[in-house]
Amino acid sequence: MERLEKITMDKNLKCKDCGAEFVFTEGEQKFYTEKNFPDPIRCPECRKVKKSKSNGKNNNKQ
Ligand SMILES: [Zn+2]
Repeated sequence: MERLEKITMDKNLKCKDCGAEFVFTEGEQKFYTEKNFPDPIRCPECRKVKKSKSNGKNNNKQ
């Protein structure tokens, strides 16, 4: 099988919290663009941590 050279538009971003580099894949970029989201500033790990933290308290919304 021949390996096709595929041009990917993956971006390397740096996490604002831990400074780690993470890949913002072409597919994710497309998704974010469709939803009109800004580029992510945190790596998936930090996003997970932040999510679980904020789920602890502020559960009551009026
Ligand atoms: Zn991070």
